[in-house]
Amino acid sequence: IRVRPLTCTETRRGDQRVVHSLGDGAVHVSAARHDATFGFSAVFDAGASQEAVFEGSGMRQLVELAIDGFSCTVFAFGQTGSGKTYTLMGPLAQSDTQPASPALLGLMQRSFTCLLEQSRSRGSDLALSASYLEIYNEQIRDLLSPGPPCALPLRWSKTRGFYVENQLSVEFDSLEAIVSLLLQGSQRRRTSAHALNRHSSRSHALLTIHIRSRAVSAHPAPGAGACPSKQGTLCFVDLAGSERVKETGSSGELSLEANSINRSLLALGHCISLLAKPRGKRTHIPYRDSKLTRLLARSLGGSGITLMVACISPSSRCLSETLSTLHYASRARRVTTRP
Ligand code: ADP
Ligand code: MG
Repeated sequence: IRVRPLTCTETRRGDQRVVHSLGDGAVHVSAARHDATFGFSAVFDAGASQEAVFEGSGMRQLVELAIDGFSCTVFAFGQTGSGKTYTLMGPLAQSDTQPASPALLGLMQRSFTCLLEQSRSRGSDLALSASYLEIYNEQIRDLLSPGPPCALPLRWSKTRGFYVENQLSVEFDSLEAIVSLLLQGSQRRRTSAHALNRHSSRSHALLTIHIRSRAVSAHPAPGAGACPSKQGTLCFVDLAGSERVKETGSSGELSLEANSINRSLLALGHCISLLAKPRGKRTHIPYRDSKLTRLLARSLGGSGITLMVACISPSSRCLSETLSTLHYASRARRVTTRP
């Protein structure tokens, strides 16, 4: 769980802080008619630095597991304006010439650094490539391919599971290269201003790093066979906000957006609830209900390892959304997969 600080606007209008971290992964919500404590693996309070979140969330281990060939996913979830993009990418740079301070870089850039360092120190021959997609109004768009955005088909095969046809995958071998892909793609994302956040992302974005270790052996002995090649993935998911239509003052096109966002988040919540049931009592998991759940099927219920960062605001005005995020996260925490 990550609790962001109160914003200037919230402080100015005198919002109360209703969320407090109690230490040891406990978070307490106290307001007029609500008093509840939730338990999680880790809680990062308003004062926690980006580095503390990276080190304390298990993100470093996730990067190492991806290098070892596992499918790893991290997703940020929460109401619009709760700090999802901040947690993943840091504050948006003020201008191209003035990049954000290194201390404020988010989980993504820190993971890239860690990945490239590991790949050098292990001396292994890693081939790295990235793909970047967004789901906007239930259409999948490639954020890396140049030119006007066009919808890509989502298909299923027995060997690959759900996959996006014709998605671009770009090779990279330096931090500069992957950071520039991230920035290029993020600028193409659909955002629209509404009451809660001026630069709000109205789409779900999935950046996937494909890590292939080539089959190499330092001392190839005849007949001994080289060490097997491994293919891991590290997927970063920035979900669009979960707010209700009426609170954002959305109408027309914006309310269509909000409805498709809510529909896919509802489908995600539904899959998570069913996955959280004990294995014997599990029924069919309706991954096919939305594009988002199809793309996340492997991360949620398959052979992957997933870190979910639920972002919340401490303000009394966000109470109901905060409680719903905490319940959602508590359910997600009960899901076990078999990597
Ligand atoms: P979301 O992606 O969930 O809609 P953002 O990440 O864009 O929300 O955050 C909303 C605003 O709050 C931004 O201006 C961001 O810089 C600020 N913010 C979010 N989290 C933090 C934090 N932990 N510390 C300082 N500012 C934050
Ligand atoms: Mg965002």
